[in-house]
Amino acid sequence: MPAQTQLVHLRDYSLEELETFFIELGEKPFRARQVFQWMWDKKATEFSQMTNISKTLSARLEEIATLNRTRIVYTSRSSATETRKLLVQMMDGKTVETVLIPEESRVTVCLSSQVGCALDCDFCATGKMGLLRNLTAGEIADQLRHAMAISPRPITNIVFMGMGEPFHNYREVLKAAHIINGELGFGIGARKITISTSGLVPQIKRFADENQRFKLAVSLNATLDQQRDMLMPINRKWNIRELVDACRYYVEKTTNMMTFEYVLLNGINDTPADARRLLRIAQQVLCKVNVIPYNDIKGRYQRPPDQTIEAFLKELSTGKFPVTVRWSRGDDIDAACGQLATTTDELDLTLYTPNLTKHE
Ligand code: SF4
Repeated sequence: MPAQTQLVHLRDYSLEELETFFIELGEKPFRARQVFQWMWDKKATEFSQMTNISKTLSARLEEIATLNRTRIVYTSRSSATETRKLLVQMMDGKTVETVLIPEESRVTVCLSSQVGCALDCDFCATGKMGLLRNLTAGEIADQLRHAMAISPRPITNIVFMGMGEPFHNYREVLKAAHIINGELGFGIGARKITISTSGLVPQIKRFADENQRFKLAVSLNATLDQQRDMLMPINRKWNIRELVDACRYYVEKTTNMMTFEYVLLNGINDTPADARRLLRIAQQVLCKVNVIPYNDIKGRYQRPPDQTIEAFLKELSTGKFPVTVRWSRGDDIDAACGQLATTTDELDLTLYTPNLTKHE
């Protein structure tokens, strides 16, 4: 029997790649559809559960392939809201966090795309870890499988806003999004899946050129280059002008509306003048603006006082684009935007607080 490291990770395959795999095994291509549906839609964890696969094929798959990609090791639950954070462990021991956010009208899952992140945004806990590695498509989609297992209600929305810059791991993130969207996968509509980027201009253009149907969100967070250079070092590579041009290109190419995310930081980017500049930017692109009052992680940034947030929103409301506000949910378990960071790449139980529930 081959060593564990040589086993083929079937969860990392798109449907087309799985078809190639079965053809190379001398099997009919329709086996790919069966196995793909078992892996994702039917959530099988063993080949023996796949009742329309012959015993011979099942035994052959056992020898050469595996369905094991990740496991859920802990969940924690916010005492104030229904938000839950999952700690998901990869086969190499590295961990990422996934957040389940039940709200009245929808249930959203926030997925991680990398272990850590290379971009080092100044307000972000994940950025402080540096980049340890990219996740595979199977490791990304598996996070949703685990979230589904503990969700009190069906999951309706997916956001790629967890650990990592999704467009730094473009191929695997898009493959995972197609697994999540596919009818033999999780069947979640493309317009219910949002991919969020800190502003990687070439990938935004690629996303547009490929006419991907998933929603696009861009973390803007500042309206002057000097400000944004400090908050998001990626701005030194592609400045606000280039970023807004890329967003306009995306909208023209796809005719889809996009979203600008704007994290409000006390005394940094929260003045009426900031709001007016944001308004001028947003009026150039078919977009929605999502304002996110910062969630304090006891660092040097704070959430602005309520009246500052209200004044900012009032200024913005004179624009002709929709404005939404995302109030933090689950900040008592460090599961709000910019707060996802496992503090070690090996699982160390002593680092986690007692309100965590162990999963066998
Ligand atoms: S905000 Fe996003 S892109 Fe920036 S460091 Fe954090 S995870 Fe990376």
